[in-house]
Amino acid sequence: MVIVMKPGATSLQVQHVVDLVNEYGLKDHVIYGTDRTVVACIGDKRSVDKGAIENAPMVEKIVPILAPYKMASLEVKQDKSEIEIGPNKFPIGGNKVGVIAGPCAVESRDQLLRTADAVKAAGCIGIRGGAYKPRTSPYSFQGLGEEGLKILAEARDNTGLAIVTEVIGVEQLDVVVHYADVLQIGARNMQHYPLLEAAGKVNKPVMLKRGMSATLDEFLLAAEYIINGGNKQVILCERGIRTYEKYVRNTLPLSVVPALNDRTHLPVIVDPSHGTGHAYMIPQVSAAAVAVGDAGVIIHPLLDR
Ligand code: PEP
Ligand code: MN
Repeated sequence: MVIVMKPGATSLQVQHVVDLVNEYGLKDHVIYGTDRTVVACIGDKRSVDKGAIENAPMVEKIVPILAPYKMASLEVKQDKSEIEIGPNKFPIGGNKVGVIAGPCAVESRDQLLRTADAVKAAGCIGIRGGAYKPRTSPYSFQGLGEEGLKILAEARDNTGLAIVTEVIGVEQLDVVVHYADVLQIGARNMQHYPLLEAAGKVNKPVMLKRGMSATLDEFLLAAEYIINGGNKQVILCERGIRTYEKYVRNTLPLSVVPALNDRTHLPVIVDPSHGTGHAYMIPQVSAAAVAVGDAGVIIHPLLDR
């Protein structure tokens, strides 16, 4: 349920409500909107005395949250979240579209620093590149590890771009948090619950990619794990789903963007590179993503035409 405070409620009055819900054994999440504050409560509500809460000073009303995902839902927070990334604090979900670009993997210092200069010159706001790669084959290049993160940090120092890089396990979380501006949780890890919980404990934005066979509700519930852990800075990324179709690497359902925007306050971005697998499609598909309301695109170079 959500306790909606009246406009102008003071922090002491909000704290009083938080103390009340904690007394009933519920976990609180206070969300400060543009004109009012709400206290979302998660837990078993059977023993809650709703009257006592409703009568607390400056409480306007109590409303149930019907969506299975609670903290991620628009029912809890009607205004869109803006998540600031990188040294220049670019607000993903604000009124500008941010483009993040870079290689799949950090392969060498030279490759990454030159790419970062080009990415910066093109007007992008972030550089992407994996230092830890979740590879389908154990024989593929697995990434440079911490050395790759150091190269990314050097690129950020040179350009001011935000670093977006993947964390593939709880073991790597601390080192990735140390260097990165945005932690990517990839499609293969969208339901890696211990990792989602651990990412909920850090104070860095997380870009969560949709699993290749995940439903929209599963996607939002995965985001809910991170928010429920305490980290509200979640960016959703649609990267295509697996279908029988072979002319693209994945089938990119752009209808997910308005569907998500209709259900969640979290910003949504699109990855047309994994979503199509073809360089020639990127400009048109990126434009289409923006047209359906996404907040940014994340691109990595593709060699074929
Ligand atoms: C990537 O971004 O390089 C990546 C592995 O993406 P995904 O998890 O979407 O496959
Ligand atoms: Mn890739």
